[in-house]
Formats: sequence, C-alpha cells, structure tokens
Amino acid sequence: MENSMNLFNTMVFNDQVMKERLPKDIYDSLHRTMQERKHLDLDVANVVASAMKNWAVEKGVTHFTHWFQPMTGVTAEKHEAFINPTINGGTLNNFTGDELIKGEPDASSFPTGGIRATFEARGYTAWDPTSYAFIKGNVLCIPTAFCSYSGEALDKKTPLLRSMQAIAKQAERILKLFGEENPSGVTTTVGPEQEYFLIDKSMLDKRPDLVYCGRTLFGSRPPKGQEMEDHYFGAIKPKVAAFMEDLDKELWQLGVLSKTRHNEVSPAQHELAPIFSTTNIAADHNQLTMEMMQVVAARHGLVCLLHEKPFAGVNGSGKHNNWSLSTEDGRNLLDTGKTPAEHSRFLLFMTAVIKAVDEHQDLLRLSIASAGNDHRLGANEAPPAIVSIFLGDELTEMLNSIKNKTIYKHKEETQMEIGVDALPHFSKDITDRNRTSPFAFTGNKFEFRMPGSSLSISGPNIILNTIVADALCQFADVLEKADDFNSALDDLIRDAIEKHQRIIFNGNNYSAEWVVEAERRGLLNLPSTVEALPLFASDENIALFERLGVFSESEVRSRTELLLESYSKIIHIEALAMLDMVQRDIVPAVLTYSKKVADTIAAKKSLDIELECTLEEYLLIRLSKLSSCMYGDIEALENSVLAGKEYENVIEHAKYNRSDVFLHMQSLRSTVDELETLVGSEYWPYPSYGEILYSVK
Ligand code: ADP
Ligand code: MG
Repeated sequence: MENSMNLFNTMVFNDQVMKERLPKDIYDSLHRTMQERKHLDLDVANVVASAMKNWAVEKGVTHFTHWFQPMTGVTAEKHEAFINPTINGGTLNNFTGDELIKGEPDASSFPTGGIRATFEARGYTAWDPTSYAFIKGNVLCIPTAFCSYSGEALDKKTPLLRSMQAIAKQAERILKLFGEENPSGVTTTVGPEQEYFLIDKSMLDKRPDLVYCGRTLFGSRPPKGQEMEDHYFGAIKPKVAAFMEDLDKELWQLGVLSKTRHNEVSPAQHELAPIFSTTNIAADHNQLTMEMMQVVAARHGLVCLLHEKPFAGVNGSGKHNNWSLSTEDGRNLLDTGKTPAEHSRFLLFMTAVIKAVDEHQDLLRLSIASAGNDHRLGANEAPPAIVSIFLGDELTEMLNSIKNKTIYKHKEETQMEIGVDALPHFSKDITDRNRTSPFAFTGNKFEFRMPGSSLSISGPNIILNTIVADALCQFADVLEKADDFNSALDDLIRDAIEKHQRIIFNGNNYSAEWVVEAERRGLLNLPSTVEALPLFASDENIALFERLGVFSESEVRSRTELLLESYSKIIHIEALAMLDMVQRDIVPAVLTYSKKVADTIAAKKSLDIELECTLEEYLLIRLSKLSSCMYGDIEALENSVLAGKEYENVIEHAKYNRSDVFLHMQSLRSTVDELETLVGSEYWPYPSYGEILYSVK
C-alpha cells in the first residue's frame, strides 16, 4: 500500500520542482525576486510560466486560475483553459508570463466597500511568488493579490504582505542595533489551530438554518452536552477518523503541513493544527484547509461546520493564531536565546509586543469581530471581549524586577540583571498553563485565541504585524539616537514595562471579577462587533496604517463600511430565516400538535364515563400560552426588520441590528425552544440538538 506521507507536496510547484525544471539563471532570478520581494521580469516570467504549465499538464491539469482572497472572506477563482487555437485548426497548450503575473477579473461584483464608487470597476490580480502555485482538481492555482486599477487593495492578501514588509523593516533596524551589520530578513510566522464541527449530511438537509446561516437558529439543549467532558481528546470514531485521514492526504499533497488532529470539548467538535509557516503561506493554507474540510466532508457523507457558534449551549469554534517573529536563517526572536545579547534582544521584542497590544487593544479586538464571533467572546468557553496578555508568573516577576530595579532570582537561583546574566529559558511547560487568556505567551510565541473558526487569519495578522512594527519603529527611533546603547535599552524597556503593565493579567479571564478589574485598569471592553468595528477608522488608526504603509485612508474607510454592512446582512438573513422557519414549519407543527391534544380532550369528554384530562389540559394551556408569546415575538421581529430599512448610515444600521433585531431574534428563539420541549418529537419539523450532535456514529 502506498504510504500517504509520500504524497507530500506532490501538487505544489515548490522550490524543489523549480530547481529541477528551471534553467539555473532563471531559478536564481526568481529566487532573488522572492527574497527581495521585487517585481518579476517578463522574460523570467515567460520561462517560469512555461515550466509551470508543462509540470501541471503532466499531472492532467487543463486549466489555470489566479486564486485570490477578496473581502468576502473566502477564496475566488475563475478558470481559464490552457488551450489556444492554432492557424491550421489545431490546438496548443499555452500559458505566458503575462498570464502568470497578471489577471484582470471584473472587480465590480466583489465587495469593495465604496472603493468602486470612487475608482474604476476593473481590478487586477498579481502573482505572489512567495506563495507556491498548486494543483486543485484539474486546475493550476496561482496565489495572487487582488487590487483595483489605481492600486488599492481589494483583498486580504495585499495588506497582509504590506504588513509583513512593515514589520520586517522595523525588526531589521532592531537587529542592526544589536550588532548585526547585514541582518537576514525577518518574517512573521503563524500556526493556526482550526476548530470545526462534523455532522451527518442528512441533518443539514433537514435544517434550513444550517443551510442559510451555518448555525442553528433554534434548538433546545440536549439532555447530554459537553458536561461529562468525555469528548475532548477522546477516541476518534471510525467515520471521523476516515475523514481526517482523507483530509490529511489532500492537504499534504497541497503542501499544507497538517500535523495534529483530535476531538474537541463539544460533542461533534474537532481540531486540526498545522506546523507553522510564514504568515502569508499560513493564511493561504488555512483558506485551503477550510475549503478542503468541506470538500472531504461531503465525500464522506458529512458536513463540516466552520461557524463560530453552530449550537447554543455547547462550545463554539475558534482558531488559535500562534504568532512569532523569525529571522530567515531560522532564529525565533521571541525565544529567550542563550547569550546575554540574545536575552536583551528577546526582552526588547517582548516589550514591543506588550506595548503594541496595550496601545492597540481596539485594533486587536476589532480584527476578530464578526456576527458569528459575537456569540463566542465572553461566553464561558472563549476569551472575553477584553484584550489582555498572559505571560505566566515567572516572566511577569522578571519584568517586575526590571521595572523596580531589583535583582531577579529565577527558579534555579540564577541572578540576573537585564542583558547581563542568564535569563531563564521559558519552556512551554512553565508558561502554557492559562487557557482563558485572549493573548498568551507560550514559551516562544504568542497565542492569540480570540479569532473565530471561520475567519480568514489575514485580518488579525495584518493588525499584529502592524502594531508590533509600530512599537519596534518607536524603539528603533530612540535607540538609533542613543549614545550609550545599553543604558538607553535599559531605560526603554523599564519605561515601557511601567507604562504598559496594566495589560498583563495572569488570572482567570472568564471570571466576573476580571471584568471589574479590567475596567479599573482602564482596559477597553468592547462587547460586540458594533462597538468594535467603527474604531477601525479612528484618526489615530488611519494615521498608523498610513505611517506604516499597510492601508490608505480610503482602504480603511471602505473596509470598515464593508465589514459593518456584512454584519448587518448576516443579522438580516438570520432574522428572515427565523421568520421563514417559524411561519412555515414551526407554527403548523404547534397547531397540529395542539389540535391532537385538544382532540384527545374532546374525545375523552364525549364518553359517558368521566375521565381525567389533567395532563392534556395542562399541556394545551401551556401550548396556547407559548403560542400567544410566539405570535407576539413574530410580530415584533417582523416590525423590527421592517424598521431597519430606514437606516442609511452603516454604523447606525449595524447598531440597530444588534440592539433591536438581534434581541427580538433571541426572544423568539427562547419561546420556540420551550415549545420544542413540549411538542411531540414526531410533530417537530427539525432534528433535535441531540440528533444533530450525535449524528456521526
Ligand atoms: P498547543 O498550543 O496545543 O500546546 P503547540 O504549542 O505545539 O500546541 O502548537 C500550536 C501551534 O503553534 C502549531 O500550529 C505550531 O506549529 C504553532 N507554532 C509553534 N511554534 C511557532 C512559532 N514559532 N511561530 C508560529 N507558530 C508556532
Ligand atoms: Mg494551542
């Protein structure tokens, strides 16, 4: 039997394939372009395109596509056949450098949030040679950025690449200060842990809410949820294991380093984690992973739910974004290192992250804001909507001793002063104890735990890269001017710790006390998307993005608008889906069942003997009362949806949807969920939570 490990990278036009298939000078030139992030020569592109096409055609490929990530949050592709007619009536497989480098899809049907109104409708896609081309089905996919003709980003990749450049530039300035004359490039690395639900396909077919919204809009709690904690890391059912194996195979072929798989806390919930890679590749790969999860699930008669909260009452799904900085020669800059110089460099980068997170809590919070994620944050399963950093006791004590100019003694009784003695090495075991923190240091990386499962990781990483680049830039500005580097570094770190220590919290982030304590510390608490998103376009944030070349003002404004609009659209669709389900399925079911009960009472009463009807009457009264409630809820929700049409301002509209429409949805849901517990199961139109959550046998 073939070992599926041998499949690794077989569908990727990666470095090794390029080396084999490209003339040496072309390979070198392409490599330089990739490393220096320069534009590619057309002559070089022609040779690369031809080699790429030949490689793909040998594998049965017939089409190519520029594969890009518009603001919809999913990927887009438009297939073009390689085929070209020749004069003598034959056909030729053709793929030119021009076609490789640039495509011109019509941008007008993609969401652009106002950019289209001011600029041209046409858009173009440009090859990102730092992310390898790959084969999906019979199509050669070329990862590309998507911009308007005036160069404004219409996608998630362009600003991500810009943010990577911004942080690389600032980190390289810092490395120079530490004596590296010609530092190798710096890149950010990401390993996203992906949570998801798997249910049987037959369940989806019977739940319009899952079809339209990806989450259940109704459903009373099953007798058994996750309270026994028996699913987490539990034995994987054969059907799920078969899915996971197949998925790994698909991902490995595409070069995605899928590494760990296990059951998660909620029934039917699972997780996949890849080995980390460069941020833009991690982002591309995460999109591919989400896509493949759905494709492979369908093959197994299953459905993969990537929504942040498919089921109320059990855990939702997140995506832990593990993030670090690394030099191109492989040194992790958030590793404590071994020498005194490495220790103080570590402290500088660590302090920069602390400063960045404290100063830009709003941006981190809003980078993961969405209608779906609102159901998770602050519930007792996911980090709250308040941003803070977990460092662990040891590192916190050490930073305190730096701040207070006291001598720090770590476990092995080694004394240290900044940059002089040995820093303890922070193994994962020491630091990774707190699972409630939204932003936890885990030994040599930070784990950002707020992102929801369906989110593209580009958003949060654009923000992380930008805010840390900003902090590093400010540090470099000071240190480059200093006469005495070591004492300036001492002061800078001490000062930053003093100023930003409020963001460090090692306690239980799920507790009510933390909310109070965070407020006392003056930390931001932005409970939902509608409070968070508008801050994206604050003057301060626009200035920051422009300063670092990540977003222009119009890009920020259009994105804010687009994300808020998308929030409102989701609430609107959910409200309509609820009304549809209630009026067409649930009301008839309640009426039929009520009639059944009433008929039973009437039948009993029509007999000559006197029979008790206590149960039937009690049931009928409750059904009637709840039916009246349901009528009120339906009417209120309908009116609320209708009144929402009056809003023209996107912020006001989103706020209204949260404070009005959403509340009426919740009210209708709670009435319907109670009715579900009373109506006979064969009368209820939808499978229950229990049936869905335990549908994969
Ligand atoms: P856990 O969080 O469950 O303890 P690990 O710490 O082993 O698991 O890894 C979680 C994720 O973090 C994995 O995807 C891993 O590849 C990633 N990771 C590890 N080191 C780094 C790093 N330096 N930069 C980015 N991600 C990393
Ligand atoms: Mg983790």
